[in-house]
Amino acid sequence: MQTPWEYRYAHRTQKMGSSVIRELLKLTEQPDVISFAGGLPAPEVFPVKEFRAACQVVLDEHGPQALQYSTTEGHVPLRELIVRSTGKITVENTLITSGSQQALDFIGRLFIDRGDYVVVESPTYLGALQAWNAYGAQYISVRSDENGMLVDELEAALRVGPKLIYVLPNFQNPGGSTLTLERRKKLVELADRYGVPIVEDDPYGRLRYEGEDLPSVLSLDADYRGSTNGPYNGNVIYLSTFSKLLAPGLRLAWIVAPSEVIRKFVMIKQAADLHTSSFNQYVAYEVAKDGFIDEHVKVIRATYKERRDVMIEMMEEMFPSNVTWIKAQGGMFLWSILPEGMDSAEVLKRAVEKKVAFVPGAAFHPNGGGANTMRLNFSYSSPETIREGITRMGTTLKELINKKI
Ligand code: PMP
Repeated sequence: MQTPWEYRYAHRTQKMGSSVIRELLKLTEQPDVISFAGGLPAPEVFPVKEFRAACQVVLDEHGPQALQYSTTEGHVPLRELIVRSTGKITVENTLITSGSQQALDFIGRLFIDRGDYVVVESPTYLGALQAWNAYGAQYISVRSDENGMLVDELEAALRVGPKLIYVLPNFQNPGGSTLTLERRKKLVELADRYGVPIVEDDPYGRLRYEGEDLPSVLSLDADYRGSTNGPYNGNVIYLSTFSKLLAPGLRLAWIVAPSEVIRKFVMIKQAADLHTSSFNQYVAYEVAKDGFIDEHVKVIRATYKERRDVMIEMMEEMFPSNVTWIKAQGGMFLWSILPEGMDSAEVLKRAVEKKVAFVPGAAFHPNGGGANTMRLNFSYSSPETIREGITRMGTTLKELINKKI
């Protein structure tokens, strides 16, 4: 008998959907479509030369170890590098993962039982929703503005008894918001008062194009507890990644958390993939060990700042006056708000006819809403392409808005 596949899948897979973004990325495969839809770094800034040299060194000096199975926790020199750049933690607080996306999945496995609540910003990162939907998570959305989560509204959410609070404090994907210092401190206090862990997802923190760097929620939580030098033993699970600092194809990221939580993640990772690629860890360490990333982020920042500024300049010129946006201080995305009642999914259909694509905002709102919002990526396209793409979008928006009136 032919397997009736539908009846054999595990219950939890019912809530698994294909990502809107993945579907849209298919559009970008057509060469004539200008895509602001994906979340890709600019390939021009990938440090190919440095990787070529590092591969050679790793193979010459550490060939057998780099090609062998390794420990689940990750390559110790790489973890020590992370300890030095994070501060207030020790190596026992770290775990190398195969991308932050894997860390999000592990968080789901470790914390989320079917029906559990997670507090999220509205909008929030789609990849986290995808990861946690598989474990049956439900979401309590807390509204946010250009300064991040409205933490004054967080307390009501915490009274519902959520398992986790998920925040993206720096240049949020998708909303482009940055959580203010005051709100970060309030978040730490509230999480402490209710004993709820904070998941701080920070892939973009070093990609700031204006304003002052702010302390991470992790480091504020360490201060709140009066700990200056690790081990860290607070409320925050911090995630970051080499995807935006070196290259996403490495699939290399890290978790910082209390050591007892790291030990649990290690067990989960053992079952999932034993360990992250040893070779990639050796090579990334070889590239990064003498401060290369500090120099390299300057190049990335200059490239992305120009692209962000061109996109904003063109939106000012081409978009109808009742379309607004949040000026992200860093990161890779601009978040744009259409007049109330307009549906960005409809706009996308028209935009694709004009060979330009973006992500409609509704998917980033797990409890509905946001139909009149859209996410535009500025890191991937060249300034000239951005000019052309925003011109096409401006024409589309004007046609639709005029038709409405
Ligand atoms: N979190 C956020 C907020 C992201 O934007 C991304 C990348 N799009 C990830 C996690 C996943 O990153 P990684 O490449 O490390 O899996």
